[in-house]
Amino acid sequence: MIPALAAAALLDIPPFPPSRMAELADRLAAILNTKNDVLIVQGEAILALEAVATSLPRRGMRALNIVTSPYGDWFGRWLCRAGAEVTDLRASGGQPIEAPAVEAELAKGGYDLVALVHAESSSGILNPLEPIARAAGAAGALVIVDAVASVGGHELDVDALGIDIAVIGAQKSLGGSAGLSALSVSPAAWERLLAPGAPELSSLSLLDLKHNWLDKGRGALPGMPSALELHALDAALDRVEREGLAAVIARHARAAEATRAGLVALGLTAFVSPDRASNLTTAAVPPPGIGIGNLLSALAPFDTGIGPGIGEAAERLVRLNHTSPRAALQPVLTGVLAVGQALASLGCSVDLGAAAAVILSHYDGRAR
Ligand SMILES: *Cc1c(COP(=O)(O)O)cnc(C)c1O
Repeated sequence: MIPALAAAALLDIPPFPPSRMAELADRLAAILNTKNDVLIVQGEAILALEAVATSLPRRGMRALNIVTSPYGDWFGRWLCRAGAEVTDLRASGGQPIEAPAVEAELAKGGYDLVALVHAESSSGILNPLEPIARAAGAAGALVIVDAVASVGGHELDVDALGIDIAVIGAQKSLGGSAGLSALSVSPAAWERLLAPGAPELSSLSLLDLKHNWLDKGRGALPGMPSALELHALDAALDRVEREGLAAVIARHARAAEATRAGLVALGLTAFVSPDRASNLTTAAVPPPGIGIGNLLSALAPFDTGIGPGIGEAAERLVRLNHTSPRAALQPVLTGVLAVGQALASLGCSVDLGAAAAVILSHYDGRAR
C-alpha cells in the first residue's frame, strides 16, 4: 500500500504539457519499431482492444480470430458484435497456436483480418507471431496483435512483420501504469477504419481519435486528459530508455529462463517449451500427486503473489509472475524457493539448494 503521505503527492499535479503529447507517441513508436501512426487511448489496454474490434469491422468482414486466452475470446465477441463474420481458431489445452493451423485456415481464402495475442500472461505462452503475421499478410489480411503482455518482454518489430494494428499498455514489462494504452495503425488499417460506417462520438471510436487528435496536430488529447497517467507514462518511458529496450527484454528473458530452470530443479514440469514461453510469466505443472489447490494454500503464507493459470489449463498450472520489477534475481529466487518450500510441506522431497544454485547460475553475479 502507498503510505498516505506519498499518495497525497499524486494530488494537485500540473497538467501534462500538450506540446509533449506527440513526443510520447513517438517514443512509443520507437519501442514498437514502427513508422505507423501511434494513438494514445485514455483507458486501460482492454479498452483499446475493444475500440479496435469495434471500429474496424463492417458488416460481412471476415475475421480469423486466434484464441489462446480469455482476451482472444473477448476480441472475437466484440468483432461479432460489430458485424464481422468471425471464425475462432482455438489452440487446445491452453497451448500456443501453431502456425500451420493458421496457414491451413487462411488457405481457405477470403479473410480480411487475422487477430491474435502475442504473449499470454495468463498461461505463460508465446504465440509464433512472425510466421502468422507473414502468412496473414501474404493472404491480404490485416494483422491485429494484442501485444500488451509482450511489449518490453519480447522483440516486437511492427513494421518488419507488417503488423497493421498493435495494441500495447505500459503496465506489464514496461513497468508503467495501467490507465493509458496505445496502438499503432498502418495505412492499410486506416483505409478500413475510414470506410463508411465507422462508429463516431464514442469512447471506442478510433475515427474520433484521428479527427480530434492526429488531424489536429497531436496536441492535447480529446476529452479530459489524465495528468497523472500521462506523467506516469513519461516516467515509465524514461526508465525504459535509460535501461535500454534491449536490456529490458534481456532482463525478462533471463528471469524466465532462471524461473523455468529453478522450477524444473524442484521437480515441476514447464507447461511449454522455451521457444513457446512468454518472458513475463512461467506456468508449470506440479509433481504428480500434488493438487494445485493444496500447493496454492501451502504457498499463501509466503505472500509471493503466485497463483493458478487462467483459462483452459488453469486448474493444472501454477504461475509465477516475473514482469517488470519482478524480472530480477531476488523476486525470482524468492518465488521459486517458496514453491519448493510449499512442496516440501506437502511431503515432496525437493532440493532447494539445487534450485537456488541453478537460478544463481543464470544471473552469474548480477542482480537483474
Ligand atoms: C494484461 C493484458 C491485457 C489487458 O490489459 P489491461 O490493461 O489490464 O486492460 C490484454 N491482453 C493481454 C494479453 C494482457 O496480458
